[in-house]
Amino acid sequence: MYGKFKDHLIKEINDIHEAGLFKNERIIASPQKAEIKLDTGQEVLNFCANNYLGLSNHPELIKAAKDGLETHGYGMSSVRFICGTTDLHKILEKKIADFMGTEDTILYAAAFDANGGVFEPLLTAEDAIISDSLNHASIIDGVRLCKAQRYRYPNADMDALEEVLKQAQAQRFRVIVTDGVFSMDGNVAPVDKMVELAEKYDAMMMVDECHSHGVVGKTGRGVTEHFNIRGKVDIITGTLGKAFGGAVGGFTTGRKEIIEMLRQRSRPYLFSNSLPPAVVSAGIRMFDMMNETNELQDKLHRNTEYFMEKMLAAGFDIKPTRSAICAVMLYDAKLSQDMAAKLLEEGIYVIGFYYPVVPKGEARIRVQLSAGHEMEHLDKAIAAFTKVGKELGVLKN
Ligand SMILES: *Cc1c(COP(=O)(O)O)cnc(C)c1O
Repeated sequence: MYGKFKDHLIKEINDIHEAGLFKNERIIASPQKAEIKLDTGQEVLNFCANNYLGLSNHPELIKAAKDGLETHGYGMSSVRFICGTTDLHKILEKKIADFMGTEDTILYAAAFDANGGVFEPLLTAEDAIISDSLNHASIIDGVRLCKAQRYRYPNADMDALEEVLKQAQAQRFRVIVTDGVFSMDGNVAPVDKMVELAEKYDAMMMVDECHSHGVVGKTGRGVTEHFNIRGKVDIITGTLGKAFGGAVGGFTTGRKEIIEMLRQRSRPYLFSNSLPPAVVSAGIRMFDMMNETNELQDKLHRNTEYFMEKMLAAGFDIKPTRSAICAVMLYDAKLSQDMAAKLLEEGIYVIGFYYPVVPKGEARIRVQLSAGHEMEHLDKAIAAFTKVGKELGVLKN
């Protein structure tokens, strides 16, 4: 039997190659940080990690992870409700809720699971989920697993959202769901306006803050801080895999009864293993650090502003953003790949994105800033962009 299937896969994989969409993995032979070493021996500056606060290799988190290993061992060998809940898990859940100003938090193995397991336990075919067209794959999958009516509106289009809300009035309950920051443009969802619409049309509000937590808002508490709408978002999902340490783990935080129901019925929570103590222990230390000082958030914001300003001054076409994602627009798919390759030769590691990851004709290089970057890193990147930009005719000489 496998023979035929094998031929089928070989053909499909070949098609992926021919479409130029085959994903090769670059191999890193050092810890994740601003200056990384590749397996080729080349040392490059990393501008494509979600390491927004530069915590992936932070000594305090490494120490906290080791402490967790020492005090609570390596693995839990259980889901949470059987024998996989430690005092550390409860402390981390409370720290997250306290930090976000929410009532309770439930941990998952990943934010992918948090989003995958949030809709089905809460909503039925009588209800409606209203989703932004650019929402993350995990939200799309979570929606697919739920029987609620599905509605979609074009990215951040508030007039379209209002129309959809009108259409959805016949349903019992409605929830509007959006990413806080969209990963390709770096734009912040207009959650202030969404909350108003949610109130007007009797809907609940859910925000996935994976790219906004740690980044958006003066203290990195995300879009609810940015728009000063604390307490108005009913469900917030987030990750420990981006700004908040970069290891692994996700969470849903929000209204107490919602979290309580998720603990009873959310399938990725009930049927998947508990986070290991080392990760939970480091997570606790991470939120303590967030409460002790705002240094990292301030540095990230300074770095982002500086980089954007200098790149605009150099003549690049940059999408306006309030996040740490800087989309350098090139519009041409091949150019985006050539430019990323040449930048790597200059020691700057960035990725060029093109259709179907972004709309046709909107190819770009995505730069992700970090508190782990020093001024000299930023200057080196700006100089390399300028040099390569001139060589490839993106900038006028
Ligand atoms: C990265 C990301 C996720 C997935 O997070 P993991 O914890 O890595 O599973 C979910 N939603 C959004 C918007 C993301 O950017």
